[in-house]
Amino acid sequence: MGDAPLTTLSGCGPKVAAKLSERGLSCLQDLWLQLPRRYEDRTRITPIAMLQPGVAAQVEGRVEAVERGFRYRPVLRVAIGDESRGTLVLRFFHFRAAQAAQFVPGTRLRCYGTPRSGQNGLEMVHPSYRMLGEVDEDLGDLLDPVYPAIEGVGPATLRRMIGQALDRLPPDDALELLPAPMLEPLGLPPLRQALLTVHRPPRDADLAALLAGIHPAQRRLALEELLAHHLSLRRQRIAQQAHAAAPLCDDRLVHELLRQLPFALTSAQQRVFGEIRVDLARPSPMLRLVQGDVGSGKTVVAALAAMLAVAAGKQAALMAPTELLAEQHLANLAGWLAPLGVRVAWLAGKVTGRARTRALAEVASGEAQLVVGTHALMQEGVAFHDLALAIIDEQHRFGVHQRLALREKGRAGASAAVPHQLVMTATPIPRTLAMSAYADLDVSAIDELPPGRTPVQTVALSAERRPELVERIRAACAEGRQAYWVCTLIEEPGEDTGAGAAMKVEAQAAETTFESLSNQLPELSVGLVHGRMKPAEKQATMAAFKAGAIDLLVATTVIEVGVDVPNASLMIIENAERLGLAQLHQLRGRVGRGSAVSSCVLLYRSPLSQVARERLQTMRETNDGFLIAERDLSLRGPGELLGTRQTGVAEFRLADLARDADLLPQVHDMAERLLCTDPAVADRLVQRWVGGAVRFAGA
Ligand code: ADP
Ligand code: MG
Repeated sequence: MGDAPLTTLSGCGPKVAAKLSERGLSCLQDLWLQLPRRYEDRTRITPIAMLQPGVAAQVEGRVEAVERGFRYRPVLRVAIGDESRGTLVLRFFHFRAAQAAQFVPGTRLRCYGTPRSGQNGLEMVHPSYRMLGEVDEDLGDLLDPVYPAIEGVGPATLRRMIGQALDRLPPDDALELLPAPMLEPLGLPPLRQALLTVHRPPRDADLAALLAGIHPAQRRLALEELLAHHLSLRRQRIAQQAHAAAPLCDDRLVHELLRQLPFALTSAQQRVFGEIRVDLARPSPMLRLVQGDVGSGKTVVAALAAMLAVAAGKQAALMAPTELLAEQHLANLAGWLAPLGVRVAWLAGKVTGRARTRALAEVASGEAQLVVGTHALMQEGVAFHDLALAIIDEQHRFGVHQRLALREKGRAGASAAVPHQLVMTATPIPRTLAMSAYADLDVSAIDELPPGRTPVQTVALSAERRPELVERIRAACAEGRQAYWVCTLIEEPGEDTGAGAAMKVEAQAAETTFESLSNQLPELSVGLVHGRMKPAEKQATMAAFKAGAIDLLVATTVIEVGVDVPNASLMIIENAERLGLAQLHQLRGRVGRGSAVSSCVLLYRSPLSQVARERLQTMRETNDGFLIAERDLSLRGPGELLGTRQTGVAEFRLADLARDADLLPQVHDMAERLLCTDPAVADRLVQRWVGGAVRFAGA
């Protein structure tokens, strides 16, 4: 049925099948789910006199004149006319002699294309056309689908094969997996009908809805796909929890750490740590995501969790996405944990030679109780003695695979148990989305900032007012405060030049700004960090800024994640209109960490697009990361919100998390019901849409 290979279609040899399989299309069902990108309406004839430039249409007429010419290259021009007394020129640049010979004056033909204004009225370049006999031929009553192009397979071949595959759609009762009582209240059609409608819409279908992807037939398909993905993640989670993990319940070190800390936990921190503690005491692995706005104090919660592992005589690891951030964690944790006698090891890319050998030996022997580092933690040659807890900071920077890789490190250790996992992110995402993106994780939220923080005051200023800001920096620094000046891309680098070029352009912008600000503010110590500097230089500058030796730090967006300098109270972000909300919010989170009133100035260049205007407005209105995430979802869509390819969010065939977000509550509900009442159906749904392995983005 649906799993029959494509070679069972007539006209699909091994070569075409191979091309299709490169695009993930290997059985009939894959073709059913390969949806048209747009439609062509050949169900009606437009009188030639009514044609409008730029609007695709089908016309019928008789050949009036034919002209074969040669201007730089061969060209064939065919004029046709109809009863509306309009004339249309068909123009061909590639044609065979036999083709040209068909256009005998007086012959009737029907053609479809998009007319444009030419030298002599409207013309269509390379329209699709068909010769007609003298008898009238019926028009079809279905719109023609146009599928996304697939290299090596002509559009007509592809359309024919998908058509054949659809002809073999089984009857409803064999195809439908969703129980009618779940579907009916939603008012969505059965699967078979949905597929036929999307591939071959009737002429009176709501074309605007189809093109927007919100037709009930499309929503029906999206619902099923979202459901299948959700089920697949839920099942992974259930499988995970079938593993054994070391229960961690000795809280001696937790109490000691709490006594040592210079502050009391907020009630949100207490609640979230409480949830973690319950998880860790179980003999099955914890899988928990902690969402907490920038500055909400996730690190200390992670440290407390690590103390449960250490007190149990086991190891914990904390992995951060950048050296800068990892090093800051190292400094904080080493400070908190040294008095407790906990041995912290450091493993990053720049740890080489003897230091690396020593660190690896400590990790392998278990002497290192907490290991802090970057991706280097997952490299070959890193073997833990007994890893019981893997903590991953700023999850959105890592893919699912990296998360799983760190877990595998733990399995290779002394016990057969799987480590507990704690994942932290400062990029809050709306709850429904979190449930989809992280359906294999439990989610906790630290939704409260430590006391004494004053909300950052945010203003948006046009770039012309830049000179005033120089004075403002002078004044703030004269009061002993510190400031950030963030440079972002001014020019988009060429599309094919990629992130490296973006970083270069950004670095140049920062260097120029650094020079001009240094000149304008000679009494201040000005520092510079950007992504193209050596890690050692970057760290030296950051350390100097943190120590107060630098007053003004000119930086690119490299400072976005995690940097903590409470004395910094002013941030200026250049070209703020180019950044997304999540990134603006992250950047702004670098200030407002101390008790002084902080401000953030968003410099923009006019004219502002509507979306940019709304973003800046949102930033001025609120400091609440969760609210900002909701807005971001509606402005940008979840791909970008989740950090696009980095997130490990599965790639969908046709669903779109932003467009279809309103279906998610039903999806979650249906998934739970199916898992408990009909696991076999759940299996078949996952098999249908996801296959054996989840197709992770960028994996
Ligand atoms: P984030 O959640 O962004 O990772 P951090 O863990 O870096 O935040 O914490 C930000 C700052 O707040 C740090 O300097 C940390 O020591 C401090 N902090 C954390 N919890 C509290 C608290 N309960 N009271 C006061 N300060 C706290
Ligand atoms: Mg942090």
